[in-house]
Amino acid sequence: MSEFRAPVRDMLFAMNELSDMSEVAALPGYEEATPDMVEAMLEGAAQLANDVVAPTNVIGDTVGAKLVAGHVVVPEEFKSAYQQYVEGGWSALSFDPEYDGMGQPMLVGMAVEEMLQAANLAWSLCPMLTQGAIHAIESYASKELCSAYLPKMISGEWTGTMNLTEPQAGSDLSVIRTYAERVDERFRITGQKIFITWGDHDMTDNIIHLVLARIKGAPEGVKGLSLFLVPKFKLDAGGNPADFNDVETVSVEHKLGIHGSPTCVLGFQASEGYLVGEENKGLISMFAMMNRALLNVGLEGVSISERAYQQALFHANDRIQGGVPIIQHPDVRRMLMRMKSEIEAMRAVAYYAASHLDKAEKSADAAVKQHSAAMVELLTPIVKGWSTETSQELTSVGIQVHGGAGYVEETGAAQHFRDARITTIYEGTTGIQALDLAGRKILRDGGAAMTAFIEEMSAVIPQLEANAELAVSAISFKEALADLRGSVTWLLENAGDDRDTAGAVSYHLLMQAGIVAGGWQMARAAVIASERLASGAADTDFMQAKIFTARFYAEQSLPRAAAHAVTIRSGGETMMALSTEQFAAAQQ
Ligand SMILES: Cc1cc2nc3c(=O)[nH]c(=O)nc-3n(C[C@H](O)[C@H](O)[C@H](O)COP(=O)(O)OP(=O)(O)OC[C@H]3O[C@@H](n4cnc5c(N)ncnc54)[C@H](O)[C@@H]3O)c2cc1C
Repeated sequence: MSEFRAPVRDMLFAMNELSDMSEVAALPGYEEATPDMVEAMLEGAAQLANDVVAPTNVIGDTVGAKLVAGHVVVPEEFKSAYQQYVEGGWSALSFDPEYDGMGQPMLVGMAVEEMLQAANLAWSLCPMLTQGAIHAIESYASKELCSAYLPKMISGEWTGTMNLTEPQAGSDLSVIRTYAERVDERFRITGQKIFITWGDHDMTDNIIHLVLARIKGAPEGVKGLSLFLVPKFKLDAGGNPADFNDVETVSVEHKLGIHGSPTCVLGFQASEGYLVGEENKGLISMFAMMNRALLNVGLEGVSISERAYQQALFHANDRIQGGVPIIQHPDVRRMLMRMKSEIEAMRAVAYYAASHLDKAEKSADAAVKQHSAAMVELLTPIVKGWSTETSQELTSVGIQVHGGAGYVEETGAAQHFRDARITTIYEGTTGIQALDLAGRKILRDGGAAMTAFIEEMSAVIPQLEANAELAVSAISFKEALADLRGSVTWLLENAGDDRDTAGAVSYHLLMQAGIVAGGWQMARAAVIASERLASGAADTDFMQAKIFTARFYAEQSLPRAAAHAVTIRSGGETMMALSTEQFAAAQQ
């Protein structure tokens, strides 16, 4: 099994060259994010990820999280890694200095997050969900709640969870049944939540649950949902965990992957809860953490693919067949190059989206703020859907590079494939992301944000054309952009006729947009690498590899976008034609 090494060089390239890191660092509040500081931080995080967290990955998979006498127990190695994460101050990285956060940009947080996810996806979910919970509390909770809970969550002393799902309420949250009853200033929360990630564990002495519930008498549907903070242990007068708050861990799921992450059924039994934000506006508060959380889950697609790639690369150099290491065979090169190029493309798009998240939150310029907010809205479902769907294929390719050794568990390739499988499901399935993209992000504004993004992407074409080495990629990228414009126009012209049309083509539109956005970032990367080489850059291996990796993407990955475009133009007629009985007609 290979050792994991965080790809710091490519992360810095994606941040500095492709995601306007210098503009992000110039935003008010980010004065500390100097280039030296950011590089030092990434080096420090890489050490934690490589040497402390990565060695726990297999242990988490084989030992897993267990329910013992009503409490979840995780491997000792997880606790020790978490302790070191907290002691290093990593949990405070991107949060408000008012609550002892380090106030670093989201973009830097994203790179650190990627390393931890790649090191151990199951373990990383605990800090990741805590960060989402902190963000929702910071944005919507009262000053008193913020003061009582945020410092210990930001320090990592306590962790956070997100409680939406119930047995009858998955993608459709309008049918949530968990209810809240007002008792003086507080509420009593009663109901059952399922699939709650890190819903219980023994790494910290309190767990802060954010719970969507309906106040008795509130309207039906999503407009009657409110958000509550429900601690596992209530706080005493000194602010320390004291009495158990009757949040029962009913069971822990046995699942395909991420065995180290306890996925819990939680029973809230008139547990004390405190309102976060306004009554009946719970979904809005939840959405505050959603864009970050969705980008982070999209990033999981990048991270787990990177881990699978490093494993496959190690094996390809090590395994001899036909008298040579298998990396010498063109078809093995095809697989490795596909992994490498699509990972670098996905990383660059995800970081670019994170840079807009920073600008949307911090810019003092109203026009920049507005444009960046629109870009975050547009890119979030693309990063979440496209990167996680692509990770299904790349982790599978990682197994293929191993041959039979990939199908057995010893090499670790199979774990990455199993672990990746959840990423297209939780935080909203690919189908739900695709509907969001087609409906709320394209149809609602008449395609304005997507058209502006296509215009922005087209600026790279003359740069490619002006460079003899890269001109060949200009032709394919120009075609891919024209196809994407065509798909958006097709959607705008046809979606009104039949309510199923947008739903029928949305997955293909999401994948097409992702592949093209990846092609754009790789084209930009090639232009920049070529300029750096011409001006005598020291790291020639990295720059030359970048140019060929970008060309490979243009030749081998970008054409997949055209297939999605063709499918979109055929609409949804055949998809919706069969009666439900006809689906089973062949079995009669
Ligand atoms: C390991 C794991 C961890 C999780 N962690 C958490 C957590 O921490 N907190 C939490 O609250 N939840 C969590 N979840 C739940 C997760 O978010 C849901 O499983 C997910 O939202 C999908 O809901 P569902 O499983 O009910 O599937 P369903 O909603 O039943 O969907 C089934 C299929 O139907 C499709 N579908 C459903 N509705 C539509 C529609 N309107 N249009 C088109 N297609 C549709 C879906 O895309 C999917 O393919 C977790 C789940 C797992 C497995």
